[in-house]
Amino acid sequence: DEDARKLRKANKVKVTGEDIPLPIGSFQDLIGRFQLDKKLLSNLIEAEFVEPTAIQCESIPISLQNRDLIACAPTGSGKTLAFLIPLVQSIFQSSPKQKNYGIRGLVISPTNELAVQIFQELQVLVRGKKLNVAILSKQLANKLSNDIVKASKYDIIVSTPLRLIDIVKSEKVDLSRVEQLVIDEADKLFDQGFVEQTDDILSNCSSPHLRKSMFSATIPSGVEEMAQSIMKDPIRVIVGHKEA
Ligand code: ADP
Ligand code: MG
Repeated sequence: DEDARKLRKANKVKVTGEDIPLPIGSFQDLIGRFQLDKKLLSNLIEAEFVEPTAIQCESIPISLQNRDLIACAPTGSGKTLAFLIPLVQSIFQSSPKQKNYGIRGLVISPTNELAVQIFQELQVLVRGKKLNVAILSKQLANKLSNDIVKASKYDIIVSTPLRLIDIVKSEKVDLSRVEQLVIDEADKLFDQGFVEQTDDILSNCSSPHLRKSMFSATIPSGVEEMAQSIMKDPIRVIVGHKEA
């Protein structure tokens, strides 16, 4: 498609893989193509997210077509919304049959500070909707450990790998119903030696319908290996690519 080729060239984006979905040119495009939730769109506009960035133009349709994704884009390029918009939309659409069905969306972040930032953007997107979202803070981890709160009441959780794996091992969190998994800042996760914990989390996400995406500013060889081992026919998006 000629328009897509031009948009990618202008955005300095390289996209590789099989059956690559067309990029979006605006958030409004998501209404016709993916029945984007109207409230989600108005939450975006209210927060002054008017035009999608390059990584968002590519990542959102790929994710909403349920494809595994490896996305590489510089710091400050809008990767958080690139994964949160399709995550929230997918979870809206897969409305569960029963209350307290369990966690369906999971975002893994290497540090608590970054997890807090992701959680704040997530709260903006779900405003006015009946979705329960949480960050796995120390307080929440304590409440879960002591059965004061049940993890199954949450639809989407944001966590660091260490905190999550502890609580998963104590069987206070069940990840078998996770449909959407996002690994953010995969390069930092790798640098900080969280590969083993991330693998452990993955093996607990046992749903056959699990879709995975990985976002990073760089893709060092260790991250590439981790991606290869967990993804199925992934599409790769590289923003700021020298060949683009
Ligand atoms: P990255 O994770 O790639 O480093 P962030 O997701 O943290 O980047 O985004 C950087 C900044 O850009 C944030 O302040 C975010 O709110 C803002 N931002 C993201 N997407 C948009 C958009 N489409 N329009 C306007 N601002 C945006
Ligand atoms: Mg980021």
